[in-house]
Amino acid sequence: MSKILIICSCPRTNKDLSELLSGVGYEIFPATDEQQAISQAEELCPDIAIIDTSSPGINISNICKNLKLQNKTNDTQIILLTSKDSSSEEVLVGADGYITKPFNENILIATVNAHLRIKKLLDILYTNNNELAKSLYQLNVLYSTSSQLAGTLDKSKLINIMNNGLEKSLNFSLCHALVINEPENATLIINSLHPISKRLEEGLKLRALIGYKSLFEDSELPFSLSINNINPEINIKNNEGLFDLDILVWDRLFSSINTSDQFFGTVEIIREDRFTGEDSTCFQTVVKQVSLPLESALFYEELKKTNVKLEKLERLKSEFISIVSHELRTPITSIKSSLDMLLSGRMGGISDTQGNFLSLAQRNIDRLSGIINDLLDLSKIEAGKMEYRFAPCNIIEPVKFVLSSFEHLAKKKNIAIKLETGTEELKVNGDTARIEQVVSNLVSNAIKFTPENGEIRVKIEEIGDRAKVSLTDNGIGIKKEDMPKVFDKFQQIESSLTRKVGGTGLGLPIAKQLVEAHGGEIWFESEFEKGSTFSFIIPVLREDIYAKSNINS
Ligand code: ADP
Repeated sequence: MSKILIICSCPRTNKDLSELLSGVGYEIFPATDEQQAISQAEELCPDIAIIDTSSPGINISNICKNLKLQNKTNDTQIILLTSKDSSSEEVLVGADGYITKPFNENILIATVNAHLRIKKLLDILYTNNNELAKSLYQLNVLYSTSSQLAGTLDKSKLINIMNNGLEKSLNFSLCHALVINEPENATLIINSLHPISKRLEEGLKLRALIGYKSLFEDSELPFSLSINNINPEINIKNNEGLFDLDILVWDRLFSSINTSDQFFGTVEIIREDRFTGEDSTCFQTVVKQVSLPLESALFYEELKKTNVKLEKLERLKSEFISIVSHELRTPITSIKSSLDMLLSGRMGGISDTQGNFLSLAQRNIDRLSGIINDLLDLSKIEAGKMEYRFAPCNIIEPVKFVLSSFEHLAKKKNIAIKLETGTEELKVNGDTARIEQVVSNLVSNAIKFTPENGEIRVKIEEIGDRAKVSLTDNGIGIKKEDMPKVFDKFQQIESSLTRKVGGTGLGLPIAKQLVEAHGGEIWFESEFEKGSTFSFIIPVLREDIYAKSNINS
């Protein structure tokens, strides 16, 4: 029922107005002095206040100001009952309407009705406006929460961002998030406006546990959990006051934190005021927002753990290779020198058959020692222990030297090796022995993977400020799908020729590391069954810069 406050010091007029308006169904509250009028207005929040301006002892502008300045009554419609002699402009300014005395009853009722309608419309407008402002605010919080969530993969930071978002958008008094780390290990993060009693802390643990179990009533729990496995982590906002068990009957919103594949925990917020449907939607949205980054955080954690394990394995493997190759080198050297000695005839004559067997043994021991040297080199490079003797050198020299040492092998397969150089000298700052090793690995591959009667072209050229060496063969080539594996350790591409010629899959990874140690790059182009070109570049030595850096060092 609409409430009307009648402020008039004349008891007769007050009575007449009260009878008239209660007669048409309004609830009437009469006030005969200023003090009574102000306290009634504050207590009742009337829809309409009718003020008789010819009431001695009542300051009309005071009452108008008071009503308009109070939050509860600022939309109360003020209608002045004026007589010609009492209407002052100052008073009229604060009012919403007026009726002159003596008043016509029908006009009075019609004016009151019209103002009631205005009041109702204003109420609707305020409510809509407030809801709109609240929704906008919540939207803003959601937006800033989601952008913060995107910036981290730390699990506890993510939960904190969620709690902050919930606090800002839903103004809770207490929030508790049960985060399950692993079976029988959970953290209960409690964010409370005021300190909490020990009883409430225990109550929240129990409530979180029951909430969690209620989610899986008929099925098995994803993590087994008892109350003793829950470790509370309490954050208090304001150190005054104390929350006790009674806040557990306040309004609450509860949700599980999960994605379709993963369960992380639960969250509940509590406050005295009731939550609206929109609050609940906002709550669910914030909680949902955190689930995906939590899943990413979990994967990231697992990835980090696996990475640490892999690094450890890789280290162990390198150590193992280095130890074993060292241990093998000594006996191999002594076998080699014994074979050399026997083959030289200094230990007595040997028959042809014996000689053939000894030569076979010598070839195999040479191969074995090559493999061991490769393994040792790679483990040294990977441990950063490879030593380089950089010095100015003409890159054409080591290339020529390697080609001549492979001449014999190439001839056996009737493979022609052609060298093209535009110049006699191309200086680089390099370790000659390592450059020889790179070229040697490439030439040996080119010979290995080129059938008899093939051809290998070696080109040395200066391109800009780099020396480029490229080896082109017309051998078996490499299939597109195998190309990414070529520079990987221990990788051999399956082919009948690979099986026949053998190898370790270490030549190219070593070459790559050595070229990179010279500040260069190595790459290849290949067409299956047509041939391959392996190239590398090393910066050309600029004598002036080299001289300067030597003086400085
Ligand atoms: P290895 O020669 O000991 O097998 P590498 O690391 O030198 O090991 O080479 C890796 C693989 O790359 C070889 O097994 C071979 O399959 C391929 N490959 C290298 N060079 C050539 C080439 N010139 N032609 C065709 N395939 C090649």
